[in-house]
Amino acid sequence: MKVAVLGGGQLAQMMALAGTPLGMSFTFLDPAPDAPAGSLGRHVRSGFEDPEGLDAIGQWADVVTWDFENVPAASARRLAHQVAVYPPPHSLEVSQDRVVEKEFLRSLGIPVPAFAPVDSNESLRGAVESIGTPCVLKTRRLGYDGKGQRLVRAAGEAEEAWRELARQPAVLEAFVPFTRELSVVAVRGRDGAVVAYPLVENQHGEGILRLTRAPAPGLTPSLQRRAEDYVGRMLAALDYVGVLALELFQVDGADGVDGGLLANEFAPRVHNSGHWTIEGAVTSQFEQHIRAICGLPPGVTGLTRGGAVMENLIGDDVERWPELVAERGAHVHIYGKGEARPGRKMGHVTRVVR
Ligand code: AMP
Repeated sequence: MKVAVLGGGQLAQMMALAGTPLGMSFTFLDPAPDAPAGSLGRHVRSGFEDPEGLDAIGQWADVVTWDFENVPAASARRLAHQVAVYPPPHSLEVSQDRVVEKEFLRSLGIPVPAFAPVDSNESLRGAVESIGTPCVLKTRRLGYDGKGQRLVRAAGEAEEAWRELARQPAVLEAFVPFTRELSVVAVRGRDGAVVAYPLVENQHGEGILRLTRAPAPGLTPSLQRRAEDYVGRMLAALDYVGVLALELFQVDGADGVDGGLLANEFAPRVHNSGHWTIEGAVTSQFEQHIRAICGLPPGVTGLTRGGAVMENLIGDDVERWPELVAERGAHVHIYGKGEARPGRKMGHVTRVVR
């Protein structure tokens, strides 16, 4: 089958590395001349809203998907008139707006931090009053890796924080005193069947994922069931096809030894916290995504060994390459991006553990 991917970054690269052995061929639409996935298929160099580029991939492909969640939803919808597009474009519209996203989660009975939309000084004041401090102000759109958000420690800081976000439409959320951050990666096939990987624990630094431990240490069956229940509700409500990741906060709760889970956000795509599955699980998240969108049955999600630890190589970290490739059992992935700018994800390394 012919798979076109909107975006040619490392996620598209890893999709192609997983899909090629299954017999799939790939085209990537990405304006960047040096897009990491470019060498693994055809590279259509065009903007994500350029009708000519979109039509070119729409005519060629059997199925279209994406590798980043800020894909213009209108472009995905346009392609959907021509060709199968998975996940459904609607999932982009929900995940791209933090208020719509939280309302969606709440409507499914999935707990989220208290939140309120902000679009004026009055709504900001009202939100701070009802939610209290500390709280976090985030732009509704185009935030990722901790960008577009400010911690508000006291009511007096709120207006300055909003100014720093260029007074864009925003959402104010309660600051969650979480014990740890978790995520669950799940996949839904065209037939509606869902499989999920074990919950993983994620450590962030400066808003960017640094380390994932799979499975999350101390993971209990009841916590796993709860996460799978939440993500299953989302997948069904979106009539979703493909891989989706749900990011969660675990908090100490009175409702049992596991504490509570609050949803932070979801990504309608393969996810950085699922990279460990390449070596740590029988079937990787990338293969699962390709299988699902191509109408194939899912692969086995079980672990190959006891678990895995995935470390991101961010910015200068990539200079550790000589030492990492010499380390026995370390699986090194370098994405082939040009400049190692601070905060840029340049690669990752996975260590499978007993
Ligand atoms: P996000 O872009 O929403 O995933 O936020 C990036 C990171 O900021 C998260 O992974 C958390 O570490 C932190 N964060 C975001 N929202 C909150 C919150 N409401 N309370 C506490 N920490 C948060």
